[in-house]
Amino acid sequence: MSVLVVGSIALDHIKTPLEEHQNLLGGSASYASVAASFYSPVKLVGIVGEDFPNEHIELFKRRNVDIAGLQVVPGKTFRWSGEYMWDLNIRETRSVALNVFEHFNPTLPETYKDTPVVLLANIAPDLQHHVLDQVRLPRFVVADTMDLWIDTARVRLLELLARVHMLILNDGEARQLTGETSLIKAARRLRDMGPEYLAIKKGEHGCLLFGDNGQFFSCPAFPLEDIHDPTGAGDTFAGGLAGYLARYSTKVEFGALRRAVVHGSILASYNVEAFSLERLQTVTRDEISERFDTFRRLSEFDAE
Ligand code: AMP
Repeated sequence: MSVLVVGSIALDHIKTPLEEHQNLLGGSASYASVAASFYSPVKLVGIVGEDFPNEHIELFKRRNVDIAGLQVVPGKTFRWSGEYMWDLNIRETRSVALNVFEHFNPTLPETYKDTPVVLLANIAPDLQHHVLDQVRLPRFVVADTMDLWIDTARVRLLELLARVHMLILNDGEARQLTGETSLIKAARRLRDMGPEYLAIKKGEHGCLLFGDNGQFFSCPAFPLEDIHDPTGAGDTFAGGLAGYLARYSTKVEFGALRRAVVHGSILASYNVEAFSLERLQTVTRDEISERFDTFRRLSEFDAE
């Protein structure tokens, strides 16, 4: 079973207190599609300009990501620049150049339209709607979002919630969207708006998963000693989660979702060990299994 991923494809400029790198492969769809490719075939929908380096297209191909839905058009690729503070949880956007994104009209190739699992990675809600309009009877739709869309496209975002099975957002965004300070209350409000399942990410403190009838799971975060670049952690999480779920798309149950958030967290934990998608290119299946076992041990305890 494959997963369709739509989102941004970017050339990033990232500054951390210790390092600075330019022209890095970034964007929500880049991280999400490569992460998902560890678990299932991926169909990528996105747009880049003529300046987009071929080596990045080769990376998608190496990961078996179908790029029939990738538009390469005259103009420049979307560019984003961000700077992290000493506390790597704090990031400021330095600049954004939409470039070819400004006129992006995602049109799905015919071969994409029956994809059972759809990941609407972080991108303007209008574009997420537009992609969803073209998919025939998707079995499981996951949407990611960010504070920018809560501020600037709230109505379209709320309309999207009614169309998806699962929403992923971080704790600050959950509070911002609902006006609730308690994440438990925020989760109830968000699920009432449409999505049956909800994942609230809490950065270095893990993630909370909510489902029907009080179903709840708290996933720890991997205790990493060295974080080099947090960029794309959320997108990698979403991609790993959706890719893993594609195996279970005939019937997504809470047990599969619990494992899916663990797999998303594992890939995100590897991703932040290096800049851009560098670590996602070298991580092995054995390393993923090793961290899976560590995650199990992290939250196991005896009754006495
Ligand atoms: P994250 O660290 O998960 O927030 O994702 C970072 C990635 O999101 C970067 O690689 C950026 O290129 C991309 N990005 C930043 N701003 C936007 C935006 N407004 N829409 C889509 N993608 C964005």
